[in-house]
Amino acid sequence: MTTPVYQNFIHGQFLANQTGETFEVRNPATDEVIYYVEVADESIQAAAIESAKEGFALWSAMTPIERSRILLKAVNLLRERNDELAKIEVLDTGKPWQEAECVDVQTGADVIEYFAGLAPAQVGQQQMVGNDFYYTRKEPLGICAGIGAWNYPLQIACWKSGPALAAGNALIFKPSEETPLGAIKLAEIFSEAGVPAGVFNVLQGAAEVGQWLTQSPDIEKVSFTGEVGTGKKVVASAAGSLKDVTMELGGKSPLLVFDDADVSQAVSAAMLGNFYTQGEVCTNCTRVYVHKSIYQAFIDELKSRTEQNIIAGDPLDPNVNLGALISKNHQDLVMGYIDKGIAEGATVLTGGTVLKPATAPNGYFVAPTVFIDCSDDMTIVKEEIFGPVMCVLVFDDEDDVIHRANDTHLGLAAGVFTKDIQRAHRVIHRLQAGICWINSYGNSPAEMPVGGYKQSGIGRENGIETLDHYTQTKSVYVGMSNIESPF
Ligand code: NAD
Repeated sequence: MTTPVYQNFIHGQFLANQTGETFEVRNPATDEVIYYVEVADESIQAAAIESAKEGFALWSAMTPIERSRILLKAVNLLRERNDELAKIEVLDTGKPWQEAECVDVQTGADVIEYFAGLAPAQVGQQQMVGNDFYYTRKEPLGICAGIGAWNYPLQIACWKSGPALAAGNALIFKPSEETPLGAIKLAEIFSEAGVPAGVFNVLQGAAEVGQWLTQSPDIEKVSFTGEVGTGKKVVASAAGSLKDVTMELGGKSPLLVFDDADVSQAVSAAMLGNFYTQGEVCTNCTRVYVHKSIYQAFIDELKSRTEQNIIAGDPLDPNVNLGALISKNHQDLVMGYIDKGIAEGATVLTGGTVLKPATAPNGYFVAPTVFIDCSDDMTIVKEEIFGPVMCVLVFDDEDDVIHRANDTHLGLAAGVFTKDIQRAHRVIHRLQAGICWINSYGNSPAEMPVGGYKQSGIGRENGIETLDHYTQTKSVYVGMSNIESPF
């Protein structure tokens, strides 16, 4: 069987590039090349803009309720094709089927459904000023760009296209070069649902293509998901044409487990927030601060559950709950951090090695790893690792642990486990993070805004406010009497 080659998706169809340049995509669980993708060369980039201009003209002229109906058809198609799409995500990312089957497509569809429902309800203001009045209109921005990371490829494409399209914009989306297929499938679904050609184009490629999107003068906004360092480059480049930006970046989030917490629940949260999607989740609570009075009980249960309950292997096996990391490079990077943790004096409670499961011996697996004897100045405690590596730290004073938790330039997420309702809110209000959980970790429903404090991001995704980030306000002043003029 020949390996498929996918082209860029422009104006409702696949379009061949002129250079013939392609890149390969590997299944992280097998190390096999599963398909090739054509790079968006200059001819594709120009076509994407021309097409998006046409698409925007048509789409923005529709009423919000007309757009909503079409988007809801796409939502139905996404849900009908859940298994086909989930399998693509498993093969592209290496994540377990048992996650993709119930999370990736569903949470993407939920967000498009949410914004399709909200768009017709978005209203302007009207106010009398003397006998005159003004009113405001919420108008779309124009052509927007979305640039995605590889950990939740289809979900990220949905989270960006949902509000962008609902508000009447056209979106040019560039998925990560590691995981390009989900966005193509979404484009096909949008077309089938009746989204006009040009409203959702998919450009393929790596940094250069992303960079071009951030500087194109025809693009009004960039919504980016990725690393902090890349985000800074995107903001700098977008400044050249004063684009609006939304930045969903990395984190090094704290989980605070107080002495009155339910230990088993807190262990569940820590494991979810470090080993789900083999640790490749931006909001992960990679710094787990445990009160010293329950520390021993916490790490005993954590060690035994990590060693007994985690099954690594072929991600398509429904029993597997730990998949492969995205690439060999990333596996090396994560192992480099683990080595550094050991060199700087932390103790491996469990894990700390690569894994070669019998059902996926060539995959890029890393064992779920827990470090103890950590201190706040260690590299593994300070830097985002983006793999299944948890650092457990000890505390005994509330003020002190809040200070330690906030002592980072990142601020994506935070969690608190305690049965004391006042302490829960008091502590969470003092934590410098945009996404917070009390006695829970990781849930991110469409209704809830998400985004980072400090260098973890700018702006928000999901929730009502995101629709405002994809519209601009036009004020219209209406004179009701003759103009008084000194001229
Ligand atoms: P990355 O920054 O390497 O790449 C992200 C995207 O940016 C890719 O599509 C890439 O091709 C593109 N890109 C690279 N250089 C670019 C440039 N100069 N200009 C424009 N685009 C460019 O990130 P990644 O490794 O794909 O993803 C992992 C990171 O994403 C982690 O740091 C993680 O925390 C973060 N993340 C954040 C969220 C969130 O919602 N906050 C969600 C998922 C992932």
